[in-house]
Amino acid sequence: MVTPPHAPHPGHSEPRLLYDPLAGRTVFVAPGRAARPDDADLVAAADGDGPSAWCPFCAGNEHRTPPAVARAPHDTALPWHARIVPNRYPVAGHAPSSRDADRLASRPAHGVHDVVIESARHETQVTAIEAAAWRDVWDLCRRRLDTLATCEDLVWATVFKNSGPRAGSSLEHLHSQLVAIDFLPSVVDAELKAAAADRKGFARLLDEAQADGRVVAEAAGLVAVVPTAARQPYETWILPRRPARWFHAAEPADVAALADLTRWYVDRLASLVPGSDYNWWLHQAPFADGAALADADGWHWHLEILPRLGQFAGFELGTGCHITTLAPGDAAVRLRDGGQPVEL
Ligand SMILES: [Zn+2]
Ligand SMILES: [Zn+2]
Repeated sequence: MVTPPHAPHPGHSEPRLLYDPLAGRTVFVAPGRAARPDDADLVAAADGDGPSAWCPFCAGNEHRTPPAVARAPHDTALPWHARIVPNRYPVAGHAPSSRDADRLASRPAHGVHDVVIESARHETQVTAIEAAAWRDVWDLCRRRLDTLATCEDLVWATVFKNSGPRAGSSLEHLHSQLVAIDFLPSVVDAELKAAAADRKGFARLLDEAQADGRVVAEAAGLVAVVPTAARQPYETWILPRRPARWFHAAEPADVAALADLTRWYVDRLASLVPGSDYNWWLHQAPFADGAALADADGWHWHLEILPRLGQFAGFELGTGCHITTLAPGDAAVRLRDGGQPVEL
């Protein structure tokens, strides 16, 4: 058994998982998160003015977070410009894994919950980060995922970003989160099963996007497309053209391409809808061997980017269906500014 490269978080009651088989729904119960502060709380409690007085993610305030588990640059003799630290308010912790009893109604939530601090300066937008530094951020995430993939107690992981309050962010300093857990979430399980039932599913998705003019940008082996059934105006997925199970196994050129495409997208979205909030999340295959991984043959890891221009309300929550005000093809034309797919 490989020792998990993550340290315990003392001081909070351990989070638990609840599973409802009727709804097929998992809920993480993490009471410690009720105590997490937002920017206003931190400003109110600070002694001085300016972010360096209150922001736990700014350089100089490293003592306000747990020690880093990874950083960029890797060389600790150089100042950091991105670092990954354990989340002080995790949704999953160090209770023993009971992954063999996957569908217990209630069990401890076992896993890792990190914060990816994406800038040493107090920046709030991806576009404020230099292109090379932003590439380093994605490579840092790739390295951390690659390490966690060797842990036999973990099954699957994601990196996700909540940008802005409508997207669920409580701290403005540019950051993402990384969660690794001991089971495969139902959304990803469903995607894998659908792709296993139709081995050409992703190839068709890409062919149809090409035919319909929904390819918006390309870089190295990656492509950015408005998906077939975009849930919100300008929803975009970034994925490799060829099957690939894991982002953390991607070639350096494709890691850089993901950085360049996300940076381009954020800039483009800001010019189309100034001030729009958005989420993104990585979907990749499970780490562990077994049936779920066999389903991942022909699968493509992908980053789903969802602008939060409309609220999810009763219809969305009650049916799983979505309502958008912009057809995917029209969104793609606007993202491309009417021209050909952007080559980065
Ligand atoms: Zn800050
Ligand atoms: Zn997906």
